[in-house]
Amino acid sequence: MINSNNYVEKLISLGLSQSEIKDLFIHRYNIDYNQVLQGRLYMMPAKAEMDIEVLARGYPSAYILGFVEFYGMKINVSDKVLIPRPETEELMSIIEEENKHTLIHTALDLCTGSGCIALSLKKIFSQAKIYASDISPYAIQIAQKNAEENKKVIYLVLANYLDYFVSHHIKVDYLVSNPPYIPNQMKVDKSLSFEPKIALFGGPDGLDAYRMIFKDLDQVLIDHGVAMFEIEDTLVDDILLMAKDKLPHFSSKVIKDMSGKDRFIKLSKNIL
Ligand code: GLN
Repeated sequence: MINSNNYVEKLISLGLSQSEIKDLFIHRYNIDYNQVLQGRLYMMPAKAEMDIEVLARGYPSAYILGFVEFYGMKINVSDKVLIPRPETEELMSIIEEENKHTLIHTALDLCTGSGCIALSLKKIFSQAKIYASDISPYAIQIAQKNAEENKKVIYLVLANYLDYFVSHHIKVDYLVSNPPYIPNQMKVDKSLSFEPKIALFGGPDGLDAYRMIFKDLDQVLIDHGVAMFEIEDTLVDDILLMAKDKLPHFSSKVIKDMSGKDRFIKLSKNIL
C-alpha cells in the first residue's frame, strides 16, 4: 500500500500540477489535501495505485477526475469529449471583453463537445438564446449534464455542422467554434491519443471543418454578425485565404493566444 507522501511524489514526477493533485485528493480520494501538505500521512486507496498506472501511460488526469474548471464553472468530461483547453478559456475572455457593450440575442457554439463554450457564452450573454451543436450524441449528453449542473438553459442540437440551422432557417448574431483542426498526419503529443479523434482531426489538411462551416456561414449569420474560430496556428494563412474566397464580404482579424501563436480568427459580416 502506498502512502500519501509517496503518492504525491509520483504524481509530481508524472507531470501533474499542484491543482490537479489537489483535485484528485479532494474529489477522487476524499482526502483533505491541506492536511497532506501539513505532513499528515494517509494510506492511499487501491484505486489510487491503479490511477498511477493509467497516468503513467499518458491517460489525462482530467478524465480520471471527470471534470475540469472552465471559466469559473465545473465542466464534466469523459473520454468521449475533448478536454477544454486554456486557450479556449482565453477565447471566452476575449469575447467577454469585446462585447461589453454589444447586445447579443442569439449565439451558437458549433462542435460544442462538453458544452464549455456554450455555457461560457450563456454566462457572458445571460439574456441571449444560446445554441450548442455537435454531431456526437455522447457530446450532447455531456453538454446537457453540464448545463443542468451549472443551472444554465441552452438549446442542444444534434447535427452536422450548420445543417440544422440552414434547414430550419435559424440565424444567429454570434457564432463560436473550436472545431477539429489538426491535420490527420500531423505528429501530435501522445496525450492526445486518449481524446476522441473526431474532436481533434480535421482531415488531410486540417481544414475540413472550416470548409463545411464557411460554406453555410453567410446564411446562418445575421448582417453584422460575428464568428470566432479557434485554429491551428500553422494553418492561419490557408484559413484566411479560404475565408476571402468563400466569404468575400466578411472582414477577418487574427488574434494571438497567450503564447503568441495565431490561435483565433474573427470573421465579421459586413453588409453595406
Ligand atoms: N487545441 C487542441 C490541441 O492542439 C486541438 C483542439 C481542436 O482540434 N479543436 O491539443
